[in-house]
Amino acid sequence: MSQKPETLALHAGWRADPATGAVAVPIYQTTSYQFQSAEHAANLFALKELGNIYTRIMNPTTDVLEKRIAALEGGVAGLALSSGQAASAFAIQNLARVGDNVVSSTDLYGGTWNLFANTMKDQGIEVRFVDPVDPENFRKATDARTRAYYAETLPNPKLIAFPIAEVATIGRPLGIPLIMDNTAAPILTKPLDHGAAIVVYSSTKYLGGHGTSIGGLIVDGGNFPWEEHKERQPALNTPDPSYHGTVWSEAVKPLGPIAYIIKARVTLLRDLGSCMSPFNAFLTLQGVETLPLRIERHCSNTAAVAAWLGKRPEITNVIHPSFQKGELKRRAEKYLRGGQGGLVGFELKGGKDAGRKFIDALKLLYHVANIGDARSLAIHPATTTHSQLTPEEQLATGVTDNYVRLSIGIEHIDDILADLDQALKAAA
Ligand code: PLP
Repeated sequence: MSQKPETLALHAGWRADPATGAVAVPIYQTTSYQFQSAEHAANLFALKELGNIYTRIMNPTTDVLEKRIAALEGGVAGLALSSGQAASAFAIQNLARVGDNVVSSTDLYGGTWNLFANTMKDQGIEVRFVDPVDPENFRKATDARTRAYYAETLPNPKLIAFPIAEVATIGRPLGIPLIMDNTAAPILTKPLDHGAAIVVYSSTKYLGGHGTSIGGLIVDGGNFPWEEHKERQPALNTPDPSYHGTVWSEAVKPLGPIAYIIKARVTLLRDLGSCMSPFNAFLTLQGVETLPLRIERHCSNTAAVAAWLGKRPEITNVIHPSFQKGELKRRAEKYLRGGQGGLVGFELKGGKDAGRKFIDALKLLYHVANIGDARSLAIHPATTTHSQLTPEEQLATGVTDNYVRLSIGIEHIDDILADLDQALKAAA
């Protein structure tokens, strides 16, 4: 099959239903699956054969979504989860245990920051935050217990493209995989092509694209030599007591380079249960079918909004890759080849009060805590998405008091600009 994203988005992972010939992916709304025989059941449980056991750990509808996203990313296998948060948590818990650490970019979604700074800490996993402006900061924060590097491709609010290859290159000789959250840049960037080992998504955003379904995904790049780094990666290289002493990097070898994702599925998903429902997988697949088309329009509309905001007297600062200079511009050009994304931020001269008035005056744009919807959205991060962070943490992630974030949708550009225009005037 063609490797072009427009084609993969419609076809990867599915042809037609073997039982009925249905072309659309059916919603296999079932909890469990009839085993063919006692031997078949035993083989499935022993992982001698791969197949459906129970929808908490696999489902045929979800399987198509996993295959499709893995194909779009150029990875070898995927795992769908109940949310992006679950995907970020699993991606790390699959490698790091009590006493281990992970080095993460400071430029993160507020929820991921909380997960890393508080819940992971409570679980005994230390997350060390570093400024990604200098990739060497990752090396400096690394020690013998560092199990992974973590970052977002196009983090908001700063919207500075992450130096994927630069950080992946630091980690690889040390046996440290780079996990990239590509939520804001599907189609635009393929982190695996730049040396990342694992990709995570909140499918709630652009993949689903219609604001209907919370979901998350992990994609295994199949490009990381876990077995060459036995001391650095004990979770994949030492016997797992929960599976009769299985050593994942060895046991999974006959099935392909999928040790990481199989372990996540049959241990973390089995035990923690954050599975995606078949119905959400179906809705997300519907979204993915038009993802490349929508991304094109998100990018062109957003670039037009950014240029327009740059000329407005009410605004002091526009945050969009097209406004970056020097090294940041070079990174944006290197990593955002297909377009500069669907997010744009700005700072209002009138500060926090003007921000509130602006948001309240919007008529077309929705005021919601989401991004990547086909509809245009706006939010004031300091009082919402990033409000649980301390003022210092807010500044580290790039959130100022007068910052407004827009997630530009696929409506006609004239209507988007008209709404922004009347809201800016109302806030002045
Ligand atoms: N990663 C990024 C970049 C996000 O923007 C979000 C949600 O806003 C998440 C992860 C978490 O995803 P979810 O809300 O699906 O749990």
